[in-house]
Amino acid sequence: MKIMPNRMDRGFEMHQKEYEEKALQVLRSGWYVLGQEVKGFEEEFAAKMGAAHCVGLASGLDALWIAFRVLGIGAGDQVIVQGNTYIASVMGISINGATPVFVEPNEFYNMDPGRIEEKITERTKAILVTHLYGQASKMDEIVALAKKHGLRLVEDCAQSHLAAYEGQMTGTFGDVGCFSFYPSKNLGAFGDAGAVLVNDDKLAEDFRVFRNYGSEKRYYNKVVGTNSRLDELQAGLLRVRLSHLEEITRERCEIAKRYLEELHNPRLLLPEVQPGATSVWHQFVVRCQDREELIAYLNEREIGTIIHYPIPPHLSEAYGYLGHKEGFLPITEQYAEQVLSIPIYSGMTQEEQTCVIEALNQF
Ligand SMILES: *Cc1c(COP(=O)(O)O)cnc(C)c1O
Repeated sequence: MKIMPNRMDRGFEMHQKEYEEKALQVLRSGWYVLGQEVKGFEEEFAAKMGAAHCVGLASGLDALWIAFRVLGIGAGDQVIVQGNTYIASVMGISINGATPVFVEPNEFYNMDPGRIEEKITERTKAILVTHLYGQASKMDEIVALAKKHGLRLVEDCAQSHLAAYEGQMTGTFGDVGCFSFYPSKNLGAFGDAGAVLVNDDKLAEDFRVFRNYGSEKRYYNKVVGTNSRLDELQAGLLRVRLSHLEEITRERCEIAKRYLEELHNPRLLLPEVQPGATSVWHQFVVRCQDREELIAYLNEREIGTIIHYPIPPHLSEAYGYLGHKEGFLPITEQYAEQVLSIPIYSGMTQEEQTCVIEALNQF
C-alpha cells in the first residue's frame, strides 16, 4: 500500500459538496477581495478562538512580519525565537531588520522557558513563540517572563489551530497570534492565506490599514503599507473548513492516539505532550538515531515521510550573516538530525494507519 506523508485531496473529498457550493457562490458574486466572506471568516475565527479581533492576511509569513512591523520592532532590536522553528518565523523577524536570538527547545520541541532569561539584553523587544508540530507551548511561564521584562509576545500558530494551554487557545496569550492557512495546515485553505488574532482595538486597526496599502479610506494612505489581503474565495472556503475544524482535529488526535498506543519499537522515540497543554497533531514526529536507514526502509515499503526540518535556521545559508557555527545550538541540531514526521492527515484510513504502525514496529 502506497502511503504519502500527507493527502490534501482527502480533506477536500470529506466535505467536497460544501466546498464546491461555496466556491461557485463566491465566483458568481462578482466580489473577490475583502468582502463579506473575509468579514464572516474573521468574525467566526475570532469567536472560535476567543479573541477580540481577527484580521485576514495573504499568508502566515505576512502575519509574522507585519506583526513586528506594526509593533514597531525593527533595526537594532532583538527578538527571542526558538532554534528549531520553521524558517518563516525567523524571517518574520529579520525582514524588519531586527535580529533573531535563538533559544533551545525542550523535550516537547517547543521553546524551553528556562533558557529565555539568559538571552535577554537591553535590545530585546519581543519573544516569538512557535507552538511546533501542533502542541501548545508552556505559556504560563512565557507570559510571565514577557511581563516581567516588558517584552512584546508574538505567537506563531501556523501549526496549532485549536491547540490550548490550560484551556486557553494558542494565539490569544500575547500581543499578536499569527496564523497560516497554507493548504497543508490543520485549517488549510486552497492556496495561500493567513491571519492574525489581536485583542487590542488599535492594533487590529493598524493591521487592517497596513494590509491594504496603508489606507483606511481608498486613495488616502496613512502609512507605507503592503498588499496582504485575504481573498474572498479562500475566506469562503476557510469558513467551510472552520465549521468542521473540531471534527478534523478530533480525527488527527485519534490517529495520534493509535500511534502512541501501538508503536513500540525501542529504536524510535515517540512524542510526548506536556502537562497542561493539548496538541492538535499537525505533525507526528518521532526521533531515530538511524534516521537515514529508517527513511530508506520506509521508502521500500512505499511509506513517505518528511523531515521538519533538516537544517535549523541558524545554520541555513540565509542566516550565514549571523555567524552562528555548528555546535551553537546542540539540542536544536540534534533534533534536526533525528526527527522524522510520519504520515498523519485528514481522511487517513484505518488500514493506512495499521500499515504505518506495522512497518515501524518491524524496523
Ligand atoms: C507554515 C508556517 C509558516 C508560514 O506560513 P505561510 O502561510 O506558508 O507563509 C510560519 N511558521 C510556521 C511554524 C509554519 O509552519
